Amino acid sequence: MPKKKSTLKISKAKAQTIKAQAILPGVAASPGIAIGKAFLLAEDHGKAEAPTIAEAQIPVEIEKLKKALDKTREEVRRDGFYTENKLGKEQAEIFDYHRMMLEDQYFIADVIAVIRQQRRSAAYAFAEYLDQYAEQFKQKDKVFRERIADVHDIKRRVLRHLRGETWPLSNLPAEARIVVAHELTPSLTLSLNRQKITACAADLGGKTSHAALLMRSYGIPAVVGLHNIAGTIKNGDRLIVDGYQGRVLINPDRATLAHYQAEQNKHAAKTKKLAQLRALPAETLDQHHVELAANVEFAEEVDAVMVSGAAGIGLLRTEYLYLGRADLPGEEEQYREYHRIAVAVAPQPVIIRTMDLGADKCPQCIDIPAEANPMLGWRAIRISLEKTDIFIAQIKAILRANTQGNVRLLLPMISSIDELEKALEVIEQAKRKLEQAGQVFAPDTEIGVMIEVPSAALLAEAIAERVDFFSIGTNDLVQYLLAVDRGNDRIAHLYANLNPAVLRLIKNVIDAAHRYGVWVGMCGEMAADRLVTALLVGMGIDELSVSPIDVPEIKKIIRGTDYREAKKLARQALAFSTTREIREFMQQYMQPRFKDIIL
Ligand code: PEP
Ligand code: MG
Repeated sequence: MPKKKSTLKISKAKAQTIKAQAILPGVAASPGIAIGKAFLLAEDHGKAEAPTIAEAQIPVEIEKLKKALDKTREEVRRDGFYTENKLGKEQAEIFDYHRMMLEDQYFIADVIAVIRQQRRSAAYAFAEYLDQYAEQFKQKDKVFRERIADVHDIKRRVLRHLRGETWPLSNLPAEARIVVAHELTPSLTLSLNRQKITACAADLGGKTSHAALLMRSYGIPAVVGLHNIAGTIKNGDRLIVDGYQGRVLINPDRATLAHYQAEQNKHAAKTKKLAQLRALPAETLDQHHVELAANVEFAEEVDAVMVSGAAGIGLLRTEYLYLGRADLPGEEEQYREYHRIAVAVAPQPVIIRTMDLGADKCPQCIDIPAEANPMLGWRAIRISLEKTDIFIAQIKAILRANTQGNVRLLLPMISSIDELEKALEVIEQAKRKLEQAGQVFAPDTEIGVMIEVPSAALLAEAIAERVDFFSIGTNDLVQYLLAVDRGNDRIAHLYANLNPAVLRLIKNVIDAAHRYGVWVGMCGEMAADRLVTALLVGMGIDELSVSPIDVPEIKKIIRGTDYREAKKLARQALAFSTTREIREFMQQYMQPRFKDIIL
């Protein structure tokens, strides 16, 4: 049993209560606690059958290799598409690397040369070649070392096809299991999501490995970096995977089991308690109502919205319909998708944002050239106004989908009145086309603008005169206002929602909109920042739209807030001139009131 000094951040008192037979410290990759039996995935080292083959077998083996590569390419394409639709383009990027390798003609020619010249079986030649590849990566820098898991992944995929084997998980017992592997490769992780898995534990991997990110998105607890758990446990051993503290307990004794069952119950009770709020309105103590809606990034999330207790969808990011495919989604396909969602959510509203492609979301189906500053480049409404056919197809689909009267149309990245007027004119054109075609649609569908470019925030009154609602996109608004790239780790500390300039601008937008009788929502991540919920309510925000997972706690805060007090709080907060003062002020106000949420 490896004797490592635990790196766990637990109090001494708590540590003494845990007397497991063996505790393996690792890296907390995905939160949650699971107790159950282990299913050990046998490590496939790719050791081949007879290394040398008869001369006559050579063309057969080459053909086998080509077929296996074809099947693997198709499998990778499918997994990439699935991941992109479910989790977004960034998560799917790993599969681009897999595809690149599988399409590399030099690399394939090398393996074929080994089969021919050394008379090796396809499996042997392929496994040996990739082992050498991985070995070379070990000697290089971190970027290459992080690719080793991908090289192993490709090796296993191709070997499986060469041998006509199914996934090792096909032997998984019917009851739910904790999967223990030497390494969680991205493809393995993807296939896990479709099985009965309660948690994962692996020898290799770090917090930001692709597999860890995927586990978090799927909500499966996971601990990685355990060094030798796969060599330590046996199939069927009882395990506890603690994805909060980052450790695995093997065959725990009764006291430890009881401790973890209590922890599990505590977390479940917290979730259950919050679930009691599901049917209750997001209303302050003094009955001020705030719409609390949910953001949706891909179709499968609609179910999560329904159970979260959100009052509808405050932002449907439609980019998922365009990504991961070579052709454009047509009007009919979009209509069916939007209509399905609108019907599922009715009578609650669905705010459908027209596509915000470009920047970090570049689809294959629209040619978006590389740019020096893509975040400031050809993006969102700027593309739509040039590619009006694509824009009109989407608008028509949205207007037609509004059969329940609950659909609203939202325009992203508006930065001037000229641009807004052009977009409104295209919407009118789309309506005329629908009329001419005698199609059923809702001509009075509400139109809104994302306030996410500082110029739009400053032009709030002029915009409010022309539309029905606003949705403040703080993710972009903050990046453009503070000149801080929202995806750059190096300057992440400068990306401050609580910068007084951000708060003052938001307050001006809300007030300007209200002067024109226009309601204002917020769909950027700031809407889910627990520290500012009462402040936003006090500033007069009409709607907050957050990920389904954030809905219960935000609702709890709204329901525990006094609106009159929140208005005073907002006046005080807006008077500060530094981010630090505002943060401390909000912490002092929020922490004693919401102890279990704000730590
Ligand atoms: C925003 O910018 O806040 C927003 C919600 O849009 P996205 O994150 O899709 O850019
Ligand atoms: Mg945005």
